[in-house]
Amino acid sequence: MSAPISATASAAPAANESGRRQILVTSALPYANGQIHIGHMVEYIQTDIWVRTLRMHGHEVYYVGADDTHGTPVMLRAEKEGITPKQLIERVWKEHKRDFDSFGISFDNYYSTDAEENRVLCNSIYTALQQAGLIEARDIEQAYDPVKEMFLPDRFIKGQCPKCGAKDQYGDNCEVCGSTYQPTELINPYSVVSGATPIRKTSTHYFFKLSDPRCETFLRGWVSGLAQPEATNKMREWLGDQGEAKLADWDISRDAPYFGFEIPGAPGKYFYVWVDAPVGYYASFKNLADRVGIDFDAWIAPGTKAEQYHFIGKDILYFHTLFWPAMLEFSGHRTPTNVFAHGFLTVDGAKMSKSRGTFITAQSVIDTGLNPEWLRYYFAAKLNSTMEDIDLNLDDFQARVNSDLVGKYVNIASRAAGFLIKRFDGRVQDSAMHHALLGQLRDAIGHIAGFYESREYGRALRTTMELADAVNAYVDTAKPWEQAKDPANAVALHETCSVSLEAFRLLSLALKPVLPKLVESVESFLGIAPLVWADAAKPLSSANAINAYKHLTTRVDPKQIEALLAANRESLQPGEQAVAPAPAKAAAKKEDASDVISIDDFAKVDLRIAKIVDCKAVEGSDKLLQLTLDVGEEKTRNVFSGIKSAYQPQDLIGKLTVMVVNLAPRKMKFGLSEGMVLAASAADEKAEPGLYILEPHGGAKPGMRVK
Ligand SMILES: [Zn+2]
Repeated sequence: MSAPISATASAAPAANESGRRQILVTSALPYANGQIHIGHMVEYIQTDIWVRTLRMHGHEVYYVGADDTHGTPVMLRAEKEGITPKQLIERVWKEHKRDFDSFGISFDNYYSTDAEENRVLCNSIYTALQQAGLIEARDIEQAYDPVKEMFLPDRFIKGQCPKCGAKDQYGDNCEVCGSTYQPTELINPYSVVSGATPIRKTSTHYFFKLSDPRCETFLRGWVSGLAQPEATNKMREWLGDQGEAKLADWDISRDAPYFGFEIPGAPGKYFYVWVDAPVGYYASFKNLADRVGIDFDAWIAPGTKAEQYHFIGKDILYFHTLFWPAMLEFSGHRTPTNVFAHGFLTVDGAKMSKSRGTFITAQSVIDTGLNPEWLRYYFAAKLNSTMEDIDLNLDDFQARVNSDLVGKYVNIASRAAGFLIKRFDGRVQDSAMHHALLGQLRDAIGHIAGFYESREYGRALRTTMELADAVNAYVDTAKPWEQAKDPANAVALHETCSVSLEAFRLLSLALKPVLPKLVESVESFLGIAPLVWADAAKPLSSANAINAYKHLTTRVDPKQIEALLAANRESLQPGEQAVAPAPAKAAAKKEDASDVISIDDFAKVDLRIAKIVDCKAVEGSDKLLQLTLDVGEEKTRNVFSGIKSAYQPQDLIGKLTVMVVNLAPRKMKFGLSEGMVLAASAADEKAEPGLYILEPHGGAKPGMRVK
């Protein structure tokens, strides 16, 4: 590591003011071969709220991130696109950066693992581990693609499941029966890269000796400091009982061709991507430190008072609580202060799914015109300090954003500001700042900040909304709109509006880590400096007038949610894994009053020939039939149709009909309806009952486009 540059830059504040902590925070590095989706975003939002909370205390906080760029998937994806890995990661970096910016993720530095700082750090850590006697070379036998001339990671070998016989299963587990096995156990294995049958080939690999008693002893001590009991339990499970020697050595090398860093003194051998990814946290911080004059070496030295936290998903706990601390400890660095793992995101109670349109990309949220801060609010309301999964229920999302943010919070400002500006020159009544209600709010701010810091965001927001309820109750009792009718009540009206507005300022302070952009507009509306926690005790003053009230936020429109699901469904092309989502501008456009539509409007409706492969009555419904439709896709579609009055299920099986395939899926009491079949009926169905589903002439095949 190079010497730190002299700390002359003003960006590096003195570290030893009393109570001022030095804190380095990271989120897991997203992999550079795909888009950021809202599942990723849970983690960045969680980290960002925490970072903003600590910054608002005045601590010296650095939040760094980077794209995780190395490894076989990036190499092969670039090859498939006909570009170099460097071109691919450069493009993806821009996309990721754009998405993080849109969601208000306030990285102090967003970098790349494919950087010189990272190479230098990886080499120095590796060399130190080697000198400590913790690196060992060993020959191992591995699957090898003889056509592509490369060793194959487990995920790049497919074949028939040895347990249930399902075809096209990955080398490590079967998605049909769920069993796990070794790639060597697959029946008729083939390389995903070339289709060739893999052969066994020997190669020298380098191992980090995690089984060394020094590592075990160190990790047993380190685990006792973990914040989450679930993480401690997992660690204890991995470590086993004292003397059980459960930790296996870790294979940290890969053979060429590999996109990554070559291992010093080992030509043709590369660091496994999981080695240089966590080191990438330090590389990003080093890059920042060199630019703004932070003493990097002091922050990462053993015994430093600087704190270091990693926010991660529970699936990568192993890497962050075993390998990473051990790598740091035995290469002469400080170890992480703590690791905070979170659960996964489900949407409407199910795993995110491309076919349902719930594999929602960050970009599609922006394109649909949804305010990313709404999602920040919703995720925060659901997040706590455990590893529990959280669910995005789209109906609840709309209801909560509309009722909490618009109905309870913003409403307070819009009610008070008008009178204050029109009647009182935009200035508050100073004596009103001592009102008991405001004392209650100021006392609560410290607790709310504490809930954020202990990652109990749900609790922070519940407390905040209870206070908002109390403020609204105060306004409802005081009735400023009544007070305004009689000039004799001017003092009382002034008090009501002043208390309301100061309460609004305090609620804004409580919401600031979650809604930074919205609160920024509040600050400019109130004409105040950026809010920090200490401002709880600094009320608005008649010395400064507020500015004209501007609309602060809008409600979630259900059409935006429909468009969001449609946009993510449309992005699913057969055979393609992840493509840029089609922008869903439709929702933003106002409906034209005219009944005439353009050919472009019509072209938006994707009509296909569908074969009814199964049809059943729906228990508990006297209107619906459940149709299983083949529209030429890999999977059949499930559609509920209100045609029970006209058809017996068995009469429809095997028939062809016409289906709208790009309709936003609809969650019904009986399940998810993934489209709509077309049927004719009279304008007045009561006078002239009868339903007739469309059927094409002979020769049409499932999946054919109707236009
Ligand atoms: Zn199986």
